[in-house]
Amino acid sequence: MQLMIRQEALKSIIQVAEKNDLEVCGFLFGRREEETFKVEEVRFITNRLNSPTEFEMDPLEMVEAIDEAEEKGLEVVGIFHSHPKCPPRPSGKDLRGMELWPVAWLIVDGKGNYGAYVLKDGRVEEVSVKAV
Ligand SMILES: [Zn+2]
Repeated sequence: MQLMIRQEALKSIIQVAEKNDLEVCGFLFGRREEETFKVEEVRFITNRLNSPTEFEMDPLEMVEAIDEAEEKGLEVVGIFHSHPKCPPRPSGKDLRGMELWPVAWLIVDGKGNYGAYVLKDGRVEEVSVKAV
């Protein structure tokens, strides 16, 4: 599987992550075409936990963002968040979130590294990120 995202969009996430000691998070909206998640829009959502080690998206903002995206014919193709002090790999809590949201999970660290993952049949698979 692969995640296609515009370079500027990926950069915008990395830049915000680099400037924040707390985890930042949000949605990747776009379209899913077979094995490809195509990102059209990046939407930051407030991390209501204000934590450097975990995140929970503000529920009201989530609903608003999804509604607006659906009006544009876009769906949730991914969820992104940052790991300010840890490598960009899913934590135990992330795995539980991945069960609830079976989309691509893009994780960036505080140094510009990133990785994307999907949970398939209970196993983590790496998704290749194609910055276009
Ligand atoms: Zn995480």
